[in-house]
Amino acid sequence: MATCKSLNEGLFEAFNVGKSLRGKGYCGRFAPSPTGPLHLGNLRTALVSWLKARMSQGKWLLRIDDLDTPRNRPGAIESIQNDLLWLGLSWDDQVVFQSQRIDLYVSALSFFKSQGKIFACQCTRKTLDKDNNTFGEFITYSGKCKNLGLDLEPKKDQLTSWRLKVNKKFSRTAGDLIVRRSDGFIAYHLATVVDELTLGINEVIRGNDLNPAMYVQLAIFDAFNQSPISYGHVPLMLNSDGTKLSKRHGGVCVDSLKKQGMNSSKVIGCLASDLKLVPSNTELSSLELLDYLRSKKTNLDNLLQERFTSEN
Ligand SMILES: [Zn+2]
Repeated sequence: MATCKSLNEGLFEAFNVGKSLRGKGYCGRFAPSPTGPLHLGNLRTALVSWLKARMSQGKWLLRIDDLDTPRNRPGAIESIQNDLLWLGLSWDDQVVFQSQRIDLYVSALSFFKSQGKIFACQCTRKTLDKDNNTFGEFITYSGKCKNLGLDLEPKKDQLTSWRLKVNKKFSRTAGDLIVRRSDGFIAYHLATVVDELTLGINEVIRGNDLNPAMYVQLAIFDAFNQSPISYGHVPLMLNSDGTKLSKRHGGVCVDSLKKQGMNSSKVIGCLASDLKLVPSNTELSSLELLDYLRSKKTNLDNLLQERFTSEN
């Protein structure tokens, strides 16, 4: 059986591999959860992330964030890949599946445990709402269970999550965050930071609805004593009435666009004009858009909000 020490060594070796990959050039990623088909807002974010990687002569990875298995939908992985390829957004290397990397996340948990950075929390959603602090619209943990010394492996039927004791400077923006959920699943933020570090990602570009996640993730980089990567958030795509796009409220997916007779050049043109990269009613392929932006020396960073720029 592997000892705790060798697990930790394996984790940090994987971090070092990621660090050397990061040193070789730009690497971005698109990391959807396979909970259903991508809607136009997701595709627009994917387009910006892909363009940035290609304009930086870098790599663009596709990672499927499929850890939350009860939420995964049959056929979603295939439809995500088909939609990206239909739009000409091809990725580099093999598709990465979080479900195949659980050992790595478990060693991250064991590292934090060995550092005394984990505590058990038995708060329920109800008590959390009542007791917790907020950072903007984001709720941060009150610290209620931190010094109670609750058992990390409690008896059956006692729902217990594991929280990470974050560095004091993150207590307001992130708080002591969950790294293992009470149902035993690895928490999204932990898995995603381990992935960015080990896959050699330099920059994450994602929708602005995920900007509070950045503060949580920065706290995790710090807990690993690793330099953070860069983040940028694309303003959300809105419906014509100004409301947020969602799957429920007309967040159109590729299949329904195809049924309406749209070809991929029309869709790329529509996404690019929504971002004000091209005039409205432009039709062009993703590669033509890339050439056009290169020729105009467009700085895609101007599209991004809530940025954090790594010093590396
Ligand atoms: Zn608690």
